[in-house]
Parts: sequence; C-alpha cells; structure tokens
Amino acid sequence: MQTTSAKSPEPSSPALDRQSLRPDCGNCFALCCTAFGFSRSADFALDKPAGSPCQNLAPDFSCSIHDSLRPRGFRGCAVFDCFGAGQNVSQGFFAGKSWLDNLDTKDEMFSAFKAARQLHEMLWYLAEAQTRTFDPDASSRAVQLRNTIGQAVGGELPELLSMDVEDLHSQVRSTLMDVSEEVRASYFAAGDDHLDSALTPGADLMGKNLRSRRLCGADLRGAYLIAADLRDSDLSGVDLLGADFRDARLEGADLSKALYLTQPQLNAARGSCATLLPPDLEMPSHWHNG
Ligand code: SF4
Repeated sequence: MQTTSAKSPEPSSPALDRQSLRPDCGNCFALCCTAFGFSRSADFALDKPAGSPCQNLAPDFSCSIHDSLRPRGFRGCAVFDCFGAGQNVSQGFFAGKSWLDNLDTKDEMFSAFKAARQLHEMLWYLAEAQTRTFDPDASSRAVQLRNTIGQAVGGELPELLSMDVEDLHSQVRSTLMDVSEEVRASYFAAGDDHLDSALTPGADLMGKNLRSRRLCGADLRGAYLIAADLRDSDLSGVDLLGADFRDARLEGADLSKALYLTQPQLNAARGSCATLLPPDLEMPSHWHNG
C-alpha cells in the first residue's frame, strides 16, 4: 500500500512531473533485475527466467557488473529504463519493504512493477503531448489521461493491479497520434507535404544513410533505424515513438525538437557531445567515448 493518500494529482504535481519519471535505482529493490526475464542474445549474455534474481545481482540490490555491462554482454540492461516505476513501487506501494524482507509480496510486487512501468511510460509521452499541442481538445485529453494514470500510480495497490492497461494504452496512443499529426504538419508550408516515400511509420531503414534526407516532420513511429546513419541530421518534429535506434549514428544530430524520444532509445544509439537533446533527456555515458 502506498504511503501517500490516494488523491487526484494536478498535472504539475510530483506524481506527474517528468523528472519524477526518471529512474532512481538507489530507492528500488532491483525490480528490473528480478521481475523481467530475458534470453541469451546480443543484448543479454545469459538466460534468466522472469521472477527470479539475476545472477549478477548483489545482496544490496546493486549490480555487481554495473561498470562493465556493455563489454560483459548486457547491453539490454544498460539500455533499459523504468521511467521511475521501480522506486515508486518499492517505496510507494510497498512502503520500502523489499521482496527479500517478505517473500510473500514478491509476486504482487513484480506484477505491480510491470503494470507501473507501462503506466509511467505513458505519463512520459503524455507530458510531451500536452506541452507540444496547441489544440485545446488534445491538451484536455492529455491532462485527463495524465490524471487518470497519475491516480493509478499514486494510489492503492489493488487499483493498480486491476487497471485495464491495454484500454488506457489505446486511448493514450490515439491522443499521441493526434498531437503528432498537428506537430508534424507545422513543418510543412501550405501545399508542401512532400517527404521521401521511404520515411513512413514502421519503415525498414536499417543501416540506411539518411544524412542528406529531409527528415523534419516525418512520421518514423516504430521505424527500424538500427545502425542508420543520422549524423548531423535535423530531426525536428520527427515522430520517433517506439523507433528502434539500436546502434543508430546520432553524432551531431539535432534531436532537441524530436517528438516522443525516450532515454532507452538514446541509450541504445551511438552519439556524441555534439548531439543536441531535448532538455528532459541525458547524454548516455557511453557517448563520452564516442
Ligand atoms: S546484469 Fe546487472 S543490471 Fe542486468 S539484470 Fe543482472 S544485476 Fe540487473
């Protein structure tokens, strides 16, 4: 049960502040290292079933190989981001009592984390949609959804666990798409909507050289940009919702006005100090050597 009383938070309250949607691993019981499972692959060096601690997890919930995740074959861990769900579930819903302190709570805690992680991610996107839109209707829908989700992640455990996350997800998706259309349209003059026909949602742009392409205002939602060359590109007004940025080259690119960009996308990409980022996102540590 959460320590704070359930109430309807305002969009400016800490529960809905975008900075509160950043991970605070020191206040989390390593929920991402236990609740989720992973398979041996390019991103993980071993198999781990869901609901069991990773073999690299230390008794104090820290990662024993934290400083060498990428060279040790755990890039998936270096990329992951819980959007602040870990500390919320650990300290809020379970009042600072870990699954090790009370093994009976383990399954509920892991289920709560999985639900909260999706909801916190939706809050991240909705905050941006609300900021970017000039349409009062879209803004009001974003505020309403933020409040509904804010109540769920700031409320009581049974309510969180009984949330219809899929239904919320489709409502959020519809609002995000409306705002995307509005924002992207602002990058075209009247009658000028010409963009390269390859730049579409879900496009396979793996390994493509996109450096000389006009990208502003493109809809690259869900596009495969794995190892794509976007160096020095201007991605203003580009919808990047769910785009796969693994090993994409972002050195010198301007992402400061890109739409729906997240920290895990940046963590998966390659960039440099010359890459321009939106204010709520941080330069990944591995870019310093890039
Ligand atoms: S390798 Fe480290 S960060 Fe990754 S799951 Fe294991 S303990 Fe967690």
